[in-house]
Amino acid sequence: MKLDAHWMPFTANKAFKANPRMLASASGMYWTSGEGARILDMTAGLWCSNLGHGRESVARAMYEASVNLDYAPSFGFGHDASFTLAERLAALAPGDLNHVFFTNSGSESVDTALKMAIAYQSARGLGSKRMFISRERAYHGVNMGGTTVGGITTNTRTFGRWAPVDHLHSTLDIERNAFSKGLPDFGADRAEELEQLILLHGAENIAGVIVEPIAGAGGVIIPPKGYLKRLREICDAHDVLLILDEVVCGFGRTGSFTAGIEFDILPDLFTVAKGLTSGTVPMGAVFCRSGIHDTIMASAEGIEFFHGYTYSAHPIACAAAHACLDIYEEEGLFTRVNEGIGKYFEHVLHNLKDLPEIIDIRNYGLLGAIEFADQGSEAPVGVRVFQEAWKQGVMLRGLGNIVVMSPPLVAEESHIDEFAEKIWRSIRTVTEEQR
Ligand code: PLP
Repeated sequence: MKLDAHWMPFTANKAFKANPRMLASASGMYWTSGEGARILDMTAGLWCSNLGHGRESVARAMYEASVNLDYAPSFGFGHDASFTLAERLAALAPGDLNHVFFTNSGSESVDTALKMAIAYQSARGLGSKRMFISRERAYHGVNMGGTTVGGITTNTRTFGRWAPVDHLHSTLDIERNAFSKGLPDFGADRAEELEQLILLHGAENIAGVIVEPIAGAGGVIIPPKGYLKRLREICDAHDVLLILDEVVCGFGRTGSFTAGIEFDILPDLFTVAKGLTSGTVPMGAVFCRSGIHDTIMASAEGIEFFHGYTYSAHPIACAAAHACLDIYEEEGLFTRVNEGIGKYFEHVLHNLKDLPEIIDIRNYGLLGAIEFADQGSEAPVGVRVFQEAWKQGVMLRGLGNIVVMSPPLVAEESHIDEFAEKIWRSIRTVTEEQR
């Protein structure tokens, strides 16, 4: 097969094409590789396949939608499934976050939320509030808004920042919090930096603060106890919006519908994608508080928000999301993580502590990370562990010196045991090779 034409995203294309890793099929907790190997999915794909793979009711719902109404423009037209889906989602959201705007990805959700924040500030006569505060090591997707607020240097350096933005320091503090289980004890004080940034730039210039409750792609960075609550208080004190990017955390990954609910933080806007359709078909959404929605609605006659996508509220995606919500509800998956499997995962993960080179293990719900000492090598340990684990038959994610895990929410203890055995062997192999 010729591999040249497909320019692959976020991939070392030359290296991949010299040594491709192909996926041929997927079912339940497993992929089958192009070479016929069975690979345990410990990442839910890209943090998205929360329900495991090959769920027939979802496939059937998509098929039925596509024969009935394969497409419906959502600019000025409606179809039932989009309104019923929005209602259903709004009922799950906390507080008055009861307006839902559909997108096709996490990146689109982030850019939509940033625009909503600016539109809201402008609609209430505060048009100078256009700046955002984000965090170092934050990942908010790759559209220009997300790239601009993002805090991962490699993702932004070629493209620059297209809007004013400043960053809080990351809350990762291995010196004080190494090997913590759940929320780390130390570091809530880092939220105070937000007050300083607001005073520096002027609240009159700041539209909002955007953070992932648990930063995923930055390396599963779990907020210290009290940190997010303090961000909320500071935002309130200075009339600045708080946007939670729940693209990874939403749909049960932390043990609640959203991490905002899990950590008892009420944002003004929050984004989702991934778990909404369990990765089966692209879809995202932004949830918006009533006051923000109503202010924007009251600000104009005719079209109130000049923004939207050809595929917003696509009928096939709406059908998939409905079918996924049915499964989340029937199988109790939003809370399953806190009812045993998350604890088992934590126990197994922390049992790896004494393997060589490990400087931190951290976890919350079904999110986990192992961080290795920085050898300054061209092929960091995390990446080599990921490569070795693939050979052993388990999919992990290697992010520099970190490997991260985010298994489907349907994982059983036997899958976690299989993971433990294979990652143990992978880490041993990589660290022995290094000596
Ligand atoms: N926001 C967060 C927190 C993410 O982790 C991601 C993707 O991993 C995105 C946004 C972007 O989502 P997408 O890749 O669907 O555009």
